[in-house]
Amino acid sequence: MSKESKYSIPTQLIYGEAGSTDWDYSDHVIPPLTRTSTYRLRSAERGASGFDAIGKEGDKNSEDKRIYIYGRMADPNKVMLADAIARAEEGEVAVMFATGMAAVHAAVTFPLTQKANKIISHSTIYGCSYSLFTTWFKKMGIHVDFCDLKKPDSFLDLVDEHTRVLYLESPANPTLDLLDLPEITKLVAEINKSRSEENKILTVMDNTFATPYCQRPITMGVDVVLHSLTKGLSGFGTELGGAVVTRKEFNGDLVLHRKDFGGDMSPSTAWHIHAYGIPTLSLRVPKQIANAQKIAQFLEDHPEVEQVFYPGLESFPQYELAQKVLKDYDGNFAPGFMIYFTIKAASPEASKERGKKIMNYIADNAYCITLAVSLGQLRTLIEHPGSMTHLAYSAEEQIKAGIHPGGIRLAVGIESVDDVIKDLDTAIKTS
Ligand SMILES: *Cc1c(COP(=O)(O)O)cnc(C)c1O
Repeated sequence: MSKESKYSIPTQLIYGEAGSTDWDYSDHVIPPLTRTSTYRLRSAERGASGFDAIGKEGDKNSEDKRIYIYGRMADPNKVMLADAIARAEEGEVAVMFATGMAAVHAAVTFPLTQKANKIISHSTIYGCSYSLFTTWFKKMGIHVDFCDLKKPDSFLDLVDEHTRVLYLESPANPTLDLLDLPEITKLVAEINKSRSEENKILTVMDNTFATPYCQRPITMGVDVVLHSLTKGLSGFGTELGGAVVTRKEFNGDLVLHRKDFGGDMSPSTAWHIHAYGIPTLSLRVPKQIANAQKIAQFLEDHPEVEQVFYPGLESFPQYELAQKVLKDYDGNFAPGFMIYFTIKAASPEASKERGKKIMNYIADNAYCITLAVSLGQLRTLIEHPGSMTHLAYSAEEQIKAGIHPGGIRLAVGIESVDDVIKDLDTAIKTS
């Protein structure tokens, strides 16, 4: 990574390396998509050497060579994408997974041991992560406690000798809660001073909503960052993928986790994200931020809107923190492209009904807002977390987690912003 360091990260995300160090693609302006499930091993000895290297540093053998064996272990497209994503997050290594959920699973389970198997999580997180923690982990005897980490020291009372992972999501889905990463990681470091290596608490963070363009948690002391690449990093809405970014020392565990649990990414997905998603990140996200800022302002001024949560608004409850943690590669404030808002109504139930009406109106009539889950695409998407993405939370749990019954989530795209506002305005007025 060092030879390019005099160039800005957005430039490096376009150029990267002209191939993996093992296969020379320097004559290709865009590296080829390789499609093979298995690789010629040439001799039994070379095959054995390749197997021996899996999970070792950079999957390299004693001659510092990567020997490709089988797609689920490594392929050139995944290796090149991993290099680009590690660069974007300012981390040392990245490991690619089939989906964001495969990445969540790997990132929180690889550090666990029979003794150190407890997780503490922020209370407001992506619905399927919540369901993984509260349904499947519960069955497996992995204990997860939840607390509101908007107050950074709120986890301290829950920590015991078995605690191994502190799970963060910020901006949180869907409320856009922000977490004070420098403060939280400082508190964890303090606890870790007296712990042995295998019992240290690791901070694991889902950075999907921000994308590395707006927030780089590793630079603020977070140990492990994960992404649903399906969202802003792939950017065009054509791929499903996940990534875990961390220090070299954890590369082996993550590669072996993927090998054995099997949540691997296909080379075709890796190629698309590497050829289209990553190089255009710093083109797409600033436009989305500019649009989101204008839409949030429009909603805030709208007489029918009760409250707008957007980190770029001065009225955002954590506006000061937003300016501290959400920054682009040049250090400018980068409040992202997600908006959460509520409509005025006499009661929470009425607000839910009105929210539904707005979404149905949009589904039937809007040209440039689509009723759909997911985010970080060229198109603006709208959804109702209370009945869609966060259904895994019971009604009571939703209220505890700050998820409003009528809350509407908007994932802003790159359209001409006045057109989006026009569709939104008509939908609110009509519903
Ligand atoms: C979508 C999403 C995930 C899950 O990613 P998939 O690629 O759909 O598996 C995890 N976390 C957040 C914040 C998400 O938005």
